Amino acid sequence: MDRNDIESIKPFMVMEVLERAMELEKKGRSIVHMEIGEPDFPTPSKIVEAGARSLLGGETHYTDSRGLPELRLAIAEYYEKRYGTAVSPDRVIVTMGVSPALLLVLSSLMEKKGDEVIMGNPCYPCYPNFARYMGARPKFISTREEDGFQLRPADVEKAICPATRAIMINSPANPTGTLMPRKDIEAIVSMGVPVISDEIYHGLVYGEKEHSALEFSDRCYVLNGFSKLFAMTGWRLGYIILPEGALRRIHILQLNFFICPGSFVQRAAITALREYHPEIGEMLALYDERRRFLLGRLRSLGLCCAAEPRGAFYIFFNARHISGDSHSLAFDILEKAGVALTPGIDFGERGEGYLRISYANSLEHLKEGMDRLENYLDARRGC
Ligand code: PMP
Repeated sequence: MDRNDIESIKPFMVMEVLERAMELEKKGRSIVHMEIGEPDFPTPSKIVEAGARSLLGGETHYTDSRGLPELRLAIAEYYEKRYGTAVSPDRVIVTMGVSPALLLVLSSLMEKKGDEVIMGNPCYPCYPNFARYMGARPKFISTREEDGFQLRPADVEKAICPATRAIMINSPANPTGTLMPRKDIEAIVSMGVPVISDEIYHGLVYGEKEHSALEFSDRCYVLNGFSKLFAMTGWRLGYIILPEGALRRIHILQLNFFICPGSFVQRAAITALREYHPEIGEMLALYDERRRFLLGRLRSLGLCCAAEPRGAFYIFFNARHISGDSHSLAFDILEKAGVALTPGIDFGERGEGYLRISYANSLEHLKEGMDRLENYLDARRGC
């Protein structure tokens, strides 16, 4: 495989925003962080205790490179229980997060330079970056604000060609927080092309039920992990549910690249999936309260999102009437108002003119952030 497109892989702009925000903080400025997509909650206590117990009990060695058998079983049962779809643990491989899972799946599906991966624009920036790293071409489909920037099956069908190796879907999505309708997931997984369904934000939904690609086909690749729902970003753990017969190839890649995921982290993950964690319900209620607060404030400021975000912890709002250059706008808001937001262009050309808010921050801080944004907009309008 020819991999010569590394130069085209850009750093995330959100990191530039964060770095500048931290510089300003060092100089004594107060910054409200609404840019980072990381839960602001600690990992639920039973999970932490299980990890600590495992370490103290001496579980400090390599495990089976596919993951602990008990964890693979727990993952299969979790999907079965949540989505009513039978999954054999033999179709599960545990990874060190969804990012390595994506790398492994794309590595196993791409065959030659010029292979294509269909994805929406805007989308999570790692999707096109990883595809390019494989020597593949991201085939972007322009999505529409009124669809919550989710893919329309008819557009996907038109984009499929002999070079198509996979279709990426993400619901609830980063950066928009929107969900793909059930019938659209079903239509896309029925097109005969491997679907990679990034389900990392599953469980973080408000007033709606999310659907797994696995409900409609056992030929898709489901990626999920512990970072978001279980507030475990720093633990680094995820997994892939693969089609029957696809495990061997990915297993060999995992062995070579990573050997295995962390032993005690996997032990903690079994507790995450098997036990009840009251903290998760509390987090969900707080995320939803923040979401509703922000949507109300944004609406009152004339900043809209045509499709209501009902998942993850993001709102992607249209700020095109303020500026068509989301990078400059985000930096101007940061410098003048002390509010850190992510420029929409970070997620692709179709994201230009939009800004992403992450509400993984306390309601108190979000209120302060929105007050500052209101003052900034008033000053800009010359009020
Ligand atoms: N997919 C999406 C859509 C994400 O937003 C993220 C994290 N920001 C990831 C995957 C990577 O998650 P992990 O921590 O499991 O590597």
